[in-house]
Amino acid sequence: MKDKNAWTSYTETDLAAVEELSKGYIDFMSTAKTERECVDLFVDMAEKRGYRDLRDVIAAGDSLTVGSKIYAVNMKKALLLLNVGEDLINNGMNILGAHIDSPRLDIKQNPLYESDDFAYLNTHYYGGVKKYQWVAIPLAIHGVFARKDGTVVKVNVGEDPADPVFFITDLLPHLAHEQMEKTATKIIEGENLDLTVGSTPLTGVEKNAVKANILKLLKEKYAIEEEDFLSAELEVVPAGRAREAGFDRSMILAYGHDDRSCAYTEAVAFLEVTAPTKTACALFVDKEEIGSIGATGMESHFFEDTVREVLGRMGIYSELNLTRVLRNSRMLSSDVSAAYDPLFQDRFERANAALLGHGLSINKYTGAGGKFHCNDANAEYLAVVRRIFDDNHVTFQTAELAKVDAGGGGTIAYILSLYDMQVVDSGVPVLSMHAPWEAVSKADLYEAKKGYVAFLLDA
Ligand code: MN
Ligand code: MN
Repeated sequence: MKDKNAWTSYTETDLAAVEELSKGYIDFMSTAKTERECVDLFVDMAEKRGYRDLRDVIAAGDSLTVGSKIYAVNMKKALLLLNVGEDLINNGMNILGAHIDSPRLDIKQNPLYESDDFAYLNTHYYGGVKKYQWVAIPLAIHGVFARKDGTVVKVNVGEDPADPVFFITDLLPHLAHEQMEKTATKIIEGENLDLTVGSTPLTGVEKNAVKANILKLLKEKYAIEEEDFLSAELEVVPAGRAREAGFDRSMILAYGHDDRSCAYTEAVAFLEVTAPTKTACALFVDKEEIGSIGATGMESHFFEDTVREVLGRMGIYSELNLTRVLRNSRMLSSDVSAAYDPLFQDRFERANAALLGHGLSINKYTGAGGKFHCNDANAEYLAVVRRIFDDNHVTFQTAELAKVDAGGGGTIAYILSLYDMQVVDSGVPVLSMHAPWEAVSKADLYEAKKGYVAFLLDA
């Protein structure tokens, strides 16, 4: 019923479009590795298409009407795009929602120390990582220092080929007999994920001279003091560009396909749709990997409050109208699914797994065990989504994350469903999810983008 490899249906025109999308995606994945960088880039893309900052619209006292295009940024780490359609907004919006945070190592608030002529930055891992995967690979630092005077300086070291990179050491196999007896969660301890950042002492300094040298270099480059680490957000991510993978170049290896493969295809699809019938909305949220909490996560009031402002600018704000807009909306929660891996086939049930290269994956439910904590999409809504994808020749498949009782996961779907909204997960299948380098199929990116466009255009 579902064994259709997307590549078999492609014409020359399709193949050219697959390559064009992939090329843009590889550039995006190579530069926007954090939530802040994604927001900056998407805002830039939106402004070029005529989108205005909602704050400016409010400040100018302008109203929003059919064809108005706005964006709203939340604390530089979450973003909403909205394109007002012809149809009455009370009849609901078509919403896409992806997350732009990925598993990584965050630098602690008091991180810099010296030990035996090495300088280190202490980290605290973020999200579900296999800690042993983060040692002995080149790492980059992306983020910001916020100074007490209110200025913010951006940091990005390890991406330019001329930049230095950083690393975390592992033990040589010759001495690792004891280490290799440990369980995988203990092979590398979280507290030992300390980033090596230097090894030369500053001349004329007696004590902690290597650390002093690092602080001198940081002061020269960023005009910061050691205390400025207290108000910094610095993220350690795999260094280097995303790459085409396979002799046939059919796949892409990159850091953070979860969930930037969906975020990018969502942004491209959203900006391609110029005049939707229903009001179109795109969400890009932070903190999904740690439970969607906090001001920039999906559980924040940001989305609802932004819709309030929009209704206000349309001159139709009331709590009842807000309720109607939200409950009449429908959403594709654009998040990745685990791709079926032939090397780990006992974790999957193939007929209900997302196959790489077989198109956009629809996950009716996620959760774990007896579907605990999942958003179980309605059959009627799945019929709508099937109709949209079939009518627009989108190659899609239905999937569960894994076989029954093999594990589980969650997305932002359940949070939006609380508005009585129709929501289903749909996204790109990913191999080696949450590893420093994950893999996707170019075909699945293309089908995701096609599917998202078709969804936004559906009246
Ligand atoms: Mn995800
Ligand atoms: Mn994830």
